[in-house]
Amino acid sequence: MREIELILILCQYYFDGEKSIEKFTDKFNQYFKKDASAQTILFSISKFKSVDPANNVAVKDDEYSRLWREYITNEKVGELKELYRCFKKGTYVAPVKALEETSPAQKVLKRTKVVSVGDVPQARPKDYATKGIEAYRRNRDVVAGALAAAEYKCELDCTTELFVRKSSDITYTEAHHLIPLCFQDEFVHSLDVEANVVSLCPNCHCKLHYGADIEPLLRTLYSLRRERLKKCGIEISYEKLLLLYR
Ligand SMILES: [Zn+2]
Ligand SMILES: [Zn+2]
Repeated sequence: MREIELILILCQYYFDGEKSIEKFTDKFNQYFKKDASAQTILFSISKFKSVDPANNVAVKDDEYSRLWREYITNEKVGELKELYRCFKKGTYVAPVKALEETSPAQKVLKRTKVVSVGDVPQARPKDYATKGIEAYRRNRDVVAGALAAAEYKCELDCTTELFVRKSSDITYTEAHHLIPLCFQDEFVHSLDVEANVVSLCPNCHCKLHYGADIEPLLRTLYSLRRERLKKCGIEISYEKLLLLYR
């Protein structure tokens, strides 16, 4: 099995034990286009059980204990939980979206230096399902880079007063993909690039998603990003962009 498959089985064991194993197996097969039996999954679970420190076993040195050591840590368990939650909910794109919409991505933002790749066309992600946690991480870096580049200010230059994050000394803004990621299929190059991510205050972000008159906001963001998007191999007219928000 591939690492991402094992990671999900680890999630099942760690968060749910052997509960609802049939359901998990169905989802698992659906995602990875496999036809594993519940027994196969249970076999992997028994392997994780055998490296679970809670079971007082002698430390082993195999793939399973390596994954356990790597992922069951204070820093990563949260990330893992989110991945698993989205897996159960039904889509792998979900962790990326969830991150965009709600998570302050605090861990990433605490880094002092954000490495940016600049505006160049990036290969379009072929299949989020097979990239799993890697796609998720990559998105975090893109988001962190974009927020840092905007100096943690709202790019709509509004009058909303920003507050400082609880766990770092930077102001809180949210990342928004100007061309929503769900339209990736319509573009040759990746939409998950910094040029396509804008930093917005919570108010402007909400307005863009739920407001009645978003035209002035969208127009401003479009003119801010149009050239940069072009450099990334992404061309779109304002009219087309507006349609995507309808
Ligand atoms: Zn958004
Ligand atoms: Zn704003």
